[in-house]
Amino acid sequence: MSNRTLFLDQRIYDYLLSISLRESASLQRLREETATVSHSNMQIAPEQGQFMALLVQLMGVSKALEIGTYTGYSALCMALAMPEQGELICCDISDEWTSVARRYWKQAGVGHKIDLRLAPALDTLDELLARGLEGQFDFAFIDADKQNYVNYYERCLQLLRPGGLIVVDNTLWDGAVADPDNNALDTCAIREFNQVLRDDARVALSLVPIGDGLTLVRV
Ligand code: SAM
Ligand code: CA
Repeated sequence: MSNRTLFLDQRIYDYLLSISLRESASLQRLREETATVSHSNMQIAPEQGQFMALLVQLMGVSKALEIGTYTGYSALCMALAMPEQGELICCDISDEWTSVARRYWKQAGVGHKIDLRLAPALDTLDELLARGLEGQFDFAFIDADKQNYVNYYERCLQLLRPGGLIVVDNTLWDGAVADPDNNALDTCAIREFNQVLRDDARVALSLVPIGDGLTLVRV
């Protein structure tokens, strides 16, 4: 028995997957193709995708945002968990990576739920705010360029309804945030973002040590 979060060695991790992962065939095929694409370590872990899908189902999410889509695995997890009339706005700047995403979303029958916006995410979020969509979203997943995390967070706070959930990826950044000698730009950005959240009395939060660290923020 342990009263602190367990360190997952390979054997425990394999056990966790073998006993709990329910990955659909479409998600598995996308994960396998993504493994052959450049920067494949950017894709979230499958157990994390399943966890996010569970959150989406628990909250009955019908309007969601994704900031950073890559080949579409996290978006597919969320879209599969959303109702038929659900809407997921995905923000990315790469036509090449998201062309893989579009192919799999269509094959999995969720293409109609996803509105991909190929533009800097800040522009897309500002456009949604300018259209008066403040408070209209239930859920947001932040996973794009780390140096804009605070900017994405502030916009998501405006776009989500009270009680909505912002989910932020990579908040443990492979442990680098806890290493005072690591002052790489992205490490500093995530460290500062984590401090902003810690001190933000407007929200409730939990940093869940799944994947590379996933912070849940209730608006
Ligand atoms: N959520 C994805 C998944 O789990 O498969 C991974 C996203 S990957 C870590 C980050 C993505 O953010 C990349 O696809 C990159 O093109 C995109 N990105 C980087 N800068 C961006 C920006 N300014 N606006 C929108 N997307 C951006
Ligand atoms: Ca990530």
